[in-house]
Amino acid sequence: MEKSPIVICPNCSSQETIGKVLTAQSNQNVIFTCHSCGYQLKNIKTSKG
Ligand SMILES: [Zn+2]
Repeated sequence: MEKSPIVICPNCSSQETIGKVLTAQSNQNVIFTCHSCGYQLKNIKTSKG
């Protein structure tokens, strides 16, 4: 089993697995949503390309 990468919220420094906080959009953008503080960050650049 692979471990999910950990993402640290830039607002509250909460650590959660990438699968919980990142939502992929149809246009290949990714939305980060922190469930601890509600912080949202849109249009995250992925490492691809
Ligand atoms: Zn947060």
